[in-house]
Amino acid sequence: MADFLASILDIIFVAGILLALGRAVWKFFRGARPSAPGGPGRSRKEGAPQEVRHATARDPVCGMFVSTEVSHRLVEGKTVLHFCSDECLERYQNEKHKVTA
Ligand SMILES: [Zn+2]
Repeated sequence: MADFLASILDIIFVAGILLALGRAVWKFFRGARPSAPGGPGRSRKEGAPQEVRHATARDPVCGMFVSTEVSHRLVEGKTVLHFCSDECLERYQNEKHKVTA
């Protein structure tokens, strides 16, 4: 009977160690996630580049994202185009004249 009790205590003891280990591993993985390199949401937003942020717009010439606060703007009717530089703006206008002319 004493052996039986001892074996049960052994099982409980081992189970407790396994539980603690499992919890430590779980904690480790959960804790490692937010601080992972690359930042959160980077791959998630790649599907919709136009709506990454309200404060950024895509330069139609070179395709890079520019802050609408510092961009070079070109108003075309109801739409406002944002360019990273005067170079891109001029290139866009030249291309457009080429197409329409
Ligand atoms: Zn550009």
